[in-house]
Amino acid sequence: MENCLFCKIASGEIQSKKAYESKNILAFHDITPQAPFHVLIIPKTHISSMNQIGDLDPEILKEILQSIPKIADENGIAEKGYRVVNNCGNFGGQTVNHIHFHLLGGRHMKWPPG
Ligand code: 5GP
Ligand code: ZN
Repeated sequence: MENCLFCKIASGEIQSKKAYESKNILAFHDITPQAPFHVLIIPKTHISSMNQIGDLDPEILKEILQSIPKIADENGIAEKGYRVVNNCGNFGGQTVNHIHFHLLGGRHMKWPPG
């Protein structure tokens, strides 16, 4: 996908601090962390948002979900807990139109979210 920031990060055209990578997915540190630990997990293939999740290979979706406890454990946030967030569309607060899951940890999260 041309001019997609996260496609460029996935391809390595734009640099990121990687937390986990496989053939199909990438986890990298958010440039503006909202918690002591904040990574974004993306499929390398372009999917715009949760509204298009049906276009994503279920094996890749499974890989994304299974990477979460692995990344959490490797970074010492699994035991205390963490939050996984997907912002979808305008009202959801999505600013980058390549689906991504925020994994946030290292502090106590509030509810309800803002
Ligand atoms: P959204 O608001 O779409 O749910 O999340 C987009 C996230 O991407 C934001 O948390 C923002 O800080 C992060 N972000 C935007 N541009 C870059 C970038 O160039 N590099 C990295 N690592 N994160 C970015
Ligand atoms: Zn993309």
